Amino acid sequence: MKINTKVLIIGLFLQISVIMIKRSLCGLTVDEIRILAGSSMSHATTIANYLYKKRINDTILIQEIPKKVKEELSKKSIPGIYRPVASKRSSDGTIKYLFRNESEQEFETVLLTDSKRTTVCVSSQSGCRMGCPFCVTGKFGFRGNLSARDILTQVLGLPDPEKVTHVVFMGMGEPMDNIENVLKACNILSAEWGLALSQHNITVSTVGITPGIEYFLENSNCNIALSLYSPFPEERYRTVPAEKKYPAHKIIQMMKGYHSSGKRRMSVAYVMIRNTNDTDKHLEGLKVLIHGSGIRINLIPYNPIPGDDNISSSPERIQYFRHELVISGISASIRKSKGIDVSAACGLLASGLQ
Ligand code: SF4
Repeated sequence: MKINTKVLIIGLFLQISVIMIKRSLCGLTVDEIRILAGSSMSHATTIANYLYKKRINDTILIQEIPKKVKEELSKKSIPGIYRPVASKRSSDGTIKYLFRNESEQEFETVLLTDSKRTTVCVSSQSGCRMGCPFCVTGKFGFRGNLSARDILTQVLGLPDPEKVTHVVFMGMGEPMDNIENVLKACNILSAEWGLALSQHNITVSTVGITPGIEYFLENSNCNIALSLYSPFPEERYRTVPAEKKYPAHKIIQMMKGYHSSGKRRMSVAYVMIRNTNDTDKHLEGLKVLIHGSGIRINLIPYNPIPGDDNISSSPERIQYFRHELVISGISASIRKSKGIDVSAACGLLASGLQ
């Protein structure tokens, strides 16, 4: 090999190395940006505002920061917000997006709109390792945790992120199994220098990983929703394997303690399956479990997964449950299923876009 070719290859390698070690600004807190840029807090706040509110794709364009800070930033970082690789629109207007990160992990995001709110349902993991038998994501297997950058990109990388009013962690994965990144993303979503969403408009859903929930309750004021499936431990264990190690009744006791602080909304998600968990016995069990806790019950029609013979409880039965819970003093509501025709509804996410 000629000497010039060698020099060229080494130069190219060095250039690639520099690009590779550049950090993504998306996913960083204002303090981390300050340290990376070697700037004042006020300049770091300006950078964070441009990044998270204006989604700037070149920090050189930020006029309010000194040239030295801009140069330092472009040397060390990239904005890091990336776009979905595919999307599918449901007949009801729901849109499912497929993202792929630099590690080739795939994950899905759902955008739901109605007249009052625009909600993004984000994934916290690529796949899931909780193994709930009626969930397609569980069958997809576990491909890895998503970083705070990957989670935030699911909002910032959409066509109109400024319209987003609510974020729910109900996509692929168990958020409490990736608690540090989920917590960081929640903090950036709600920070004034970040996306400035109200913490009351951010909900993290879990099948119940006690240490993660405890940590989350201590460190965030965002809402939390526990997926229940059955008020009876032995029955719940068959649909939510996590029940064995982390019993739901203990988690509900813990949530009850935190609820008294009144800072956040606590709820229980109850997916209703015909003749399985919608009997009068289940209704009474639910009342006993939740009564006096101040926790709201969200009743959800079941979305059958391929190869499963179970079907959803009828709308009348779901309505009956709601009525009975409400007159017994428990706050209850019914969630409308959306995006079923593009497999964007609860339990159906599994990178099925391509
Ligand atoms: S229901 Fe949630 S926790 Fe269970 S396998 Fe599906 S994504 Fe994972």
